[in-house]
Amino acid sequence: MTDFAKTEKNNIKRLPKRGHYDRETIYSILDEALICHVGFVQAGQPYVIPINFARVGDTIVLHGAKASRLLKHIEAGNPVCVEVTIVDGLVLARSVFHHSVNYRSAVLFGTGRLVVDEQEKLAALEAVTEHLIPGRWKEARPPNQKELHATSVVSIRIDEASAKVRVGPAVDEEEDHALPVWAGVLSFQETPSIPIQDELQSEDVPLPGYIAHYSRRPTEERVP
Ligand SMILES: Cc1cc2nc3c(=O)[nH]c(=O)nc-3n(C[C@H](O)[C@H](O)[C@H](O)COP(=O)(O)OP(=O)(O)OC[C@H]3O[C@@H](n4cnc5c(N)ncnc54)[C@H](O)[C@@H]3O)c2cc1C
Repeated sequence: MTDFAKTEKNNIKRLPKRGHYDRETIYSILDEALICHVGFVQAGQPYVIPINFARVGDTIVLHGAKASRLLKHIEAGNPVCVEVTIVDGLVLARSVFHHSVNYRSAVLFGTGRLVVDEQEKLAALEAVTEHLIPGRWKEARPPNQKELHATSVVSIRIDEASAKVRVGPAVDEEEDHALPVWAGVLSFQETPSIPIQDELQSEDVPLPGYIAHYSRRPTEERVP
């Protein structure tokens, strides 16, 4: 996979050693992040909207109601900025100044289009569903014509992108090392709580494995 070019827009100037431009790093962050935030400017006013998404190759797909202002704005070919963040831990230093967060984040720039082809639209809806919970698309009822008609899907080509990643322990001043203040990393991981079965469902519908063992982590990184 090739790297994104460094441009005036995506070049990380502050702490550049934390910057990454390779698709592998950026796409792994996108694929693990649950939701994204889309930033856009309309009539001079910036907006940032949280929304579900999926990465399909070098694009981001979004879906929503036909009347959605955000989707209409993207359909019209306006530029947008998409952001995701995964918090991996709180970095607790001995001094307040050196407190930090271990994180993986990505910022993308691109322009979008309305997806009109029905097969492409269905594939995008499948991708958004599977991004949230892999295994769900095959089990849930697929959208019917009425639902498809009421739904807009847009595809945003990722033109420019960067990731910024912080890992590791607190970095304190040497003279603070002897302070009697607990220092270290409080790790974070997005994990689900106990599934609550819908009251209208009969008890004999078993809990699928993809729900029971849900994890945002890529399969190869999961603790058995
Ligand atoms: C986790 C999550 C996932 C979501 N997934 C989807 C999705 O897949 N598809 C989808 O269409 N929508 C989704 N939404 C809702 C989405 O955030 C927007 O509300 C929706 O897309 C309509 O955006 P709009 O700009 O067209 O709305 P408008 O109603 O035109 O927005 C007008 C104003 O309402 C306020 N507003 C809008 N949305 C929010 C919000 N979420 N929180 C607080 N204020 C808000 C803002 O001030 C905004 O400027 C999701 C929201 C969350 C939090």
